Amino acid sequence: MSTDSFVESTETLKKTVPLMMKYKVPITPTNYALWYTYTKQQTPELNLAIDQGIAELGLCTPTLCESLYQEHLANQTEQDVRQVKQSLTAMVQELSHTMMDALSDTEAFQSVLTKSFDKLETAEQNGLSLDDTMKLVRDLIRESRQIQASTGTFKGQLSSAKDEITTLREALAESQKEANEDALTGILNRRAFDRDFQHYIESNTPLSFILLDIDKFKDFNDKFGHLMGDQVLKTIARRLKVNCRDYAQAYRFGGEEFAIILPHKMKASARQQAETFRRAFERISVIDKKTGQRVNSITASFGVAEKQPNESGECLIDRADSFMNQAKKLGRNRVLPLN
Ligand code: GH3
Ligand code: MG
Ligand code: MG
Repeated sequence: MSTDSFVESTETLKKTVPLMMKYKVPITPTNYALWYTYTKQQTPELNLAIDQGIAELGLCTPTLCESLYQEHLANQTEQDVRQVKQSLTAMVQELSHTMMDALSDTEAFQSVLTKSFDKLETAEQNGLSLDDTMKLVRDLIRESRQIQASTGTFKGQLSSAKDEITTLREALAESQKEANEDALTGILNRRAFDRDFQHYIESNTPLSFILLDIDKFKDFNDKFGHLMGDQVLKTIARRLKVNCRDYAQAYRFGGEEFAIILPHKMKASARQQAETFRRAFERISVIDKKTGQRVNSITASFGVAEKQPNESGECLIDRADSFMNQAKKLGRNRVLPLN
């Protein structure tokens, strides 16, 4: 799917949301993507399937939406999905503004109506024939009531569409956040790492890289339980986050491995940063709820590497990884290389 122009996207959105409301489809990002594609009529098989579903069921069930999404849209590349999300966010903002304007217009219209009722009263006082005046009044009241009723409905529809859109915007923000965050520790995940790292490498940004692995973590889990292990991972992640300075960014790289990208930093300063982390981990102390025992033997081993000009990303990670393994062999709880 290519990125639509903003105007095109907004037009499609204006058609998509009412359709979704009509068929009672919850406005979630995946449903939205599905119905957006439906409105654009880009995928005839998808439109056929939805039309058939609606003809048979009168609505589109969440399960049908889910399976159609899986069948027709789930295999888009990450890039495509990101583009859709970006254009969505922009559109949603635009549409909220449009709708706010429409709402205040409606309000203004209603105040005009009220004023014309007042005028009518004055006309009556100024002496048209009773019959003429009464006819005028009856006609105007009837028409105005119709207008008021329909603008009232319109206003209600706009309000609920606006609520839906606010929900959609929040859901989009949330899904974007979830996509980049590690569920357990709340720091950025491997996917975010891959994306950011690739960006740095492609733009040839000077950087250093730290890879760390918690020492003897399997033993820790065996001894204190997996839940307490999870607690340690969360604590480690928090310490990494608060100790990251100057645009350094920490990521959960794998199970008990974390990576830190330090843009525009040379090896010496990355080593210092790794030392700060190492000492911060040594100070971690968790309580074993079962025994009340205090555990403060958490350590990690670190490998540091500075990117060489034109070095590939894989090569840089490999170098940090082998320094980290060397640190394990030399007795753990240390940063390598030594200088
Ligand atoms: P080493 O010092 O050589 O790194 O030893 P290790 O025990 O840390 O290394 P190993 O790779 O053998 O074990 C890693 C352990 O990390 C095993 C796995 O259960 C644990 N682990 C990985 N992810 C999680 C997690 O999300 N939660 C918990 N509690 N443990 C995890
Ligand atoms: Mg490991
Ligand atoms: Mg380990």
